[in-house]
Amino acid sequence: MSCLFCKIARAEIETDYLYENEHVLAFHDIHPQAPQHILIIPRRHIASLNDLGPDTSYLIGEMALAAKTLAGEMGFAESGYRILMNCNDDGGQTVYHIHLHLLGGRRMHWPPG
Ligand code: AMP
Ligand code: ZN
Repeated sequence: MSCLFCKIARAEIETDYLYENEHVLAFHDIHPQAPQHILIIPRRHIASLNDLGPDTSYLIGEMALAAKTLAGEMGFAESGYRILMNCNDDGGQTVYHIHLHLLGGRRMHWPPG
């Protein structure tokens, strides 16, 4: 499997994990779009949100729990933050292993680009 995020999850690429449990892990985005920009991924390979099923949907909850835990630990839970997932071309997805973006440390804009 040549998936970049599977390699990160298997520690084949050296990465500092900011959070990990048996289901998910988190690390800094390499091209941050905010003062804090963290990616949260399931250990299990799921290419996009379109590939999520009833057997794997609990992973979205695990990712959300990781996001709010990190926001608290990093000190921007109260000021606020954004989580988002891009899906396929029009959604702006570039890495085909689902991931939640956690963005914080500045005011977010709406609508998104
Ligand atoms: P998306 O465009 O939603 O698929 O998001 C993919 C994200 O992965 C982008 O924000 C990239 O900056 C980020 N990214 C790509 N390669 C790496 C890497 N090796 N380590 C950390 N983040 C990465
Ligand atoms: Zn993968």
